[in-house]
Amino acid sequence: MHPIIILGAGLAGWTTARELRKLDANRPVMVITADSGDFYAKPSLSNAFAHKRGPEQLISTPAAKMVETLNVTLRANCRVTALDTTANTVTLTDATGIQTVTYSQLVLATGATPIRVPLEGNAADRVRSVNSLDDFRTLHADLSAPGDGKPSSPEVAPNKTVVIMGAGLIGCEFANDLLQAGHQVHVVDPSQRPLQALLPAEAGAQLKDALGALGLQWHFGATVSRADEASAGITVTLTNGQTLFADLVLSAIGLRADTALAAAAGLLCERGVVVNEHLQTSSPHVYALGDCAQYGGAGGRTLPYVMPIMNAARALAQTLNGTATPLVFPLMPVSVKTPALPIVVAPPAPGQEGVWVSEEGDTMGTWRFTASDGQQRGFVL
Ligand code: FAD
Repeated sequence: MHPIIILGAGLAGWTTARELRKLDANRPVMVITADSGDFYAKPSLSNAFAHKRGPEQLISTPAAKMVETLNVTLRANCRVTALDTTANTVTLTDATGIQTVTYSQLVLATGATPIRVPLEGNAADRVRSVNSLDDFRTLHADLSAPGDGKPSSPEVAPNKTVVIMGAGLIGCEFANDLLQAGHQVHVVDPSQRPLQALLPAEAGAQLKDALGALGLQWHFGATVSRADEASAGITVTLTNGQTLFADLVLSAIGLRADTALAAAAGLLCERGVVVNEHLQTSSPHVYALGDCAQYGGAGGRTLPYVMPIMNAARALAQTLNGTATPLVFPLMPVSVKTPALPIVVAPPAPGQEGVWVSEEGDTMGTWRFTASDGQQRGFVL
């Protein structure tokens, strides 16, 4: 019997395998991933420095233990380069060569890729972004280094200067974390306040002040245009003409669903791999979930967060096991990991018409998003 192949060993891939095993202990399952397959909680990447946790401490279950517990075959450090949805095969490449494997059902859990804007300057390729444990290893090593390119020390050395591009969720979380770890942090963003797309103006202003009180230097209404080598770091030039010195530049301007493989195989892709309410792609035996997916059951949105993945994996496991189960998303608030001002937000759908209204007499900070039909469609605490 051909295995169910799960492509990707992030939260979406491993959670699907775990949910499947709850329903069927023996069905052959193969997990294929370009990384090591070690299981880690990606949200912990943006609060690790303050807790003095290095990359190895973030691995909650090593790959070998996942294989043993879930009774799966793991092809780690192995990249899938092509899908054939007519022959039901994937082509994979690893150190041993190229191979074709047949699936009974295929689950795409290939995640997303950080968006990068082209910058001018001879240090443009030194700009980092963090969307995986390997990315975090590099960031951690950079910030641990004494500053002159010598090997890193085990403890993160404080007092580096980091310029973060983007005042969204990931940018703000890293900013808070690096400040707490003792670094100097600048955040550059074309908007006028942090989390502009998610929060009402007053809540954004509170976050701006709270992080400002920790020493964060905001640069709103500007973007980074150049990154040039300086004697011991990088000179960063902003579109408003200002220059900043940085030991490190971190780009946190968003993610784009990874659709390359699916699109090349002829699967319908828009902002993500398009799936219906059963998480089925335009090819009957191929499913998708996680950061790579665009959910028809959620108004055609991508939902690159943990809670949608947990819900999607549970429903998908049932469907793969023979009980077609539509995915119905519950309300899924997101916690913003900014200890300077902890926030929980359930944002309205993009483009939803309406207004944010603060609770009368509320001193803690609560807002409801009231849509034009009078219904509450979001909240911020
Ligand atoms: P990924 O974890 O990116 O996994 C993709 C997998 O696919 C990888 O194993 C990769 O190797 C594999 N792969 C891709 N292409 C191939 C190929 N061709 N061949 C083989 N393998 C391939 N969400 C929240 O809800 N709350 C939070 O607090 C929060 N904090 C976050 C903090 C950070 C810093 C980041 C980056 C994200 C955060 N998120 C948070 C989002 C959440 O972590 C993600 O939505 C989730 O981890 C995505 O999981 P995934 O499995 O879809 O993708």
